[in-house]
Amino acid sequence: MVEAYRPSSLEEALKIRADKGALPFAGGTDLMVKYRYESGAVPEYPAPVIFLTHLEEIRKIYSQDGELHLGAGTSLAELMSHSEVPELLKEAVRTIAAPGLRNTATLAGNICNASPAADGVCALYALDSRVKLSSPRSSRELAIYEFITGPGKTELREDELLTEIIIPRDRSTTRLFRKVGTRKANALSKLSIAAAARLSGERVDEVRIALGAVAPTVLRSVELEKQIQGLSRAELSERLEHFVQSYEAMVQPIDDQRSTAVYRKKVAVNLLRQFLTSIAA
Ligand SMILES: Cc1cc2nc3c(=O)[nH]c(=O)nc-3n(C[C@H](O)[C@H](O)[C@H](O)COP(=O)(O)OP(=O)(O)OC[C@H]3O[C@@H](n4cnc5c(N)ncnc54)[C@H](O)[C@@H]3O)c2cc1C
Repeated sequence: MVEAYRPSSLEEALKIRADKGALPFAGGTDLMVKYRYESGAVPEYPAPVIFLTHLEEIRKIYSQDGELHLGAGTSLAELMSHSEVPELLKEAVRTIAAPGLRNTATLAGNICNASPAADGVCALYALDSRVKLSSPRSSRELAIYEFITGPGKTELREDELLTEIIIPRDRSTTRLFRKVGTRKANALSKLSIAAAARLSGERVDEVRIALGAVAPTVLRSVELEKQIQGLSRAELSERLEHFVQSYEAMVQPIDDQRSTAVYRKKVAVNLLRQFLTSIAA
């Protein structure tokens, strides 16, 4: 027997979350796998579950002050068909699972599951996104790289729900998203890259690079990005191998059932070099 709640407002949902320690349930595509002990059996959840995706307050997608707000209850399919969602995120989401699953799964679930191989999360790092966390008493915002702290670990408090994902306007002029998996559909990433850069004339004004499945969390180095920003394309070209090697030192993948550490590192570094070369060229 699963104890489940279907609140009629966000306020009620937050109260149930705080009072019952209820487990947030969005599309359930990670949760049902995680707590399924045998084929055909009802999953055994460690706490009551609370359904969220029907709540109107978290089903909105809107722009405010130049930033896009994605309600935590919107499905991956809904965000893919929205005109204001950045192309980099759409490209990443298009590679998640298959259409049927994207009709029910959410980006909020992809974030809170906190897998280093989560494809939507990789793009959100490169888009400098934030999450809004709400509790019955208050709300706060964290950068996505502050929110996710390790494999399966986040800063979500016991009385909080993730209610919005906030994405600054994407002003990049060059973008890359690549996922390397066994198949095109229903295959988790062996590794991934999401990268965006803004060039004005010969200068690199802004760059953000995120690598998925090569470290305990999606890997992004704000420090290295600062070193690249402000360089002319010729200067970047001269120092390209230095930057590639600096990233290579940070790439620390593991061997698992999907790939080997050696393969992951080699291909991640190749894709990184390809992106840097494309902006230096
Ligand atoms: C066959 C299959 C293929 C898959 N392929 C991919 C893939 O290619 N790439 C990929 O990245 N993932 C993949 N996944 C994983 C999964 O589908 C995604 O991570 C999905 O985005 C999870 O969303 P959800 O709404 O189903 O999350 P749920 O399963 O509902 O929740 C996941 C976690 O987030 C928490 N949560 C959800 N919403 C909130 C909220 N609002 N506030 C706080 N906590 C919350 C839940 O408590 C849970 O811990 C696949 C899964 C399956 C079953």
